[in-house]
Amino acid sequence: MRIAVVRETREGETRVALVPDLVPALVAAGHDVLVEPGAGRGALHADEEYAAAGAALDERAVEEADLVLAVQPIDVATARRLRRGAATVSFLAPGQELALVADLRDIGVTAYAMELVPRISRAQSMDALSSQSLVSGYRCAVVCAGLLRRFFPLNMTAAGTVPPAQVVVLGAGVAGLQAIATARRLGAVVKAYDVRAAAAEEIRSMGAQAIELDLPTLDGAGGYAREMSEERSALQRELLAPYVAAADGLITTAAVPGRTAPVLVTAAMVEAMRPGSVVVDLAADSGGNVEGSVPGEVVRLGRAQVWGGRNVPAQMPGPASRLYAQNVVSLVQLLTADGTLEPDLDDEVLDACCVTHDGVVRHAPTRELLEGVR
Ligand code: NAD
Repeated sequence: MRIAVVRETREGETRVALVPDLVPALVAAGHDVLVEPGAGRGALHADEEYAAAGAALDERAVEEADLVLAVQPIDVATARRLRRGAATVSFLAPGQELALVADLRDIGVTAYAMELVPRISRAQSMDALSSQSLVSGYRCAVVCAGLLRRFFPLNMTAAGTVPPAQVVVLGAGVAGLQAIATARRLGAVVKAYDVRAAAAEEIRSMGAQAIELDLPTLDGAGGYAREMSEERSALQRELLAPYVAAADGLITTAAVPGRTAPVLVTAAMVEAMRPGSVVVDLAADSGGNVEGSVPGEVVRLGRAQVWGGRNVPAQMPGPASRLYAQNVVSLVQLLTADGTLEPDLDDEVLDACCVTHDGVVRHAPTRELLEGVR
């Protein structure tokens, strides 16, 4: 089977879907790996590294491929270069990329969406949402420490004692827990809050204090949070306001899958923070947990600096690509047998993440959206 690795075309995307280290695993399984020249450049992998690992550099990799690997949804022009019957593995954002999904369907491409891999134990090695959230969570804590013009750790010196920074983390999923762990390692005192009942124990296991509010918890299906009413949302903001006001650093990572991120912190709450405070909003890309945050920018709100996340995993392209590539290779192993593409679409994992196949949109929510616009 010929597996192509594309050069990402979206602005700001620095990651690559396969790193040279993982080429031998695919070659050993009997595949030819074709890499578009320059594909690894943003992640600091030179073409020569791919060649040395056993891949062929090929400008026509996409046309020749049985399977195309990418990070972002491929662009429509690339999709039109694919052979009928070829397959793609990438993030697909099918709800937003309806035109692309329609093209993939009409060209007869089988498209697998990494974000739709179910979060079951058997599929953990393919869970790209988790691997990229790990990178984002770490990055958020480091950005917060970097922007804050004071120490994170307690310092006891002959010249006196410097108290540690107080960091509050809102949302304690994969990214939030990693932000907590990183801020703790840097020595900050960390408090955190999440709407899910199980989160308090996870927060404490990272060495942080769990903020417990007098509010019902909100556990949804599959370990995710449920969307909350506007009334509960307002009450949560009111109860969190004193914690936010007392923080030197605030990191927000709360998302509800497939929806706009909830506003956890109003501009007034940020304006009540002390001079020099730092706010890091990982959810800025999907609407923002913090009112007034702007993706990709640092804005001043009151006396605080507010950093808005924009494609945060791409800010650490080396490790993000390495982890993503391992997720992709694990999925490729599930898609193939004896070196050929033989997907069992009844398999729970493939059934969940296969969006288009053989001229049909298999993913029901996307099919409904497409039928709604046609
Ligand atoms: P996410 O990125 O969807 O959301 C981040 C966090 O924000 C979640 O913990 C969520 O509860 C929280 N949140 C949402 N709305 C909030 C609000 N209004 N106020 C405060 N917090 C809010 O989540 P995620 O990181 O993808 O993980 C979600 C869950 O899935 C976690 O329980 C995680 O442990 C679980 N998970 C399971 C597996 C697996 O079983 N393989 C893998 C990864 C994650």
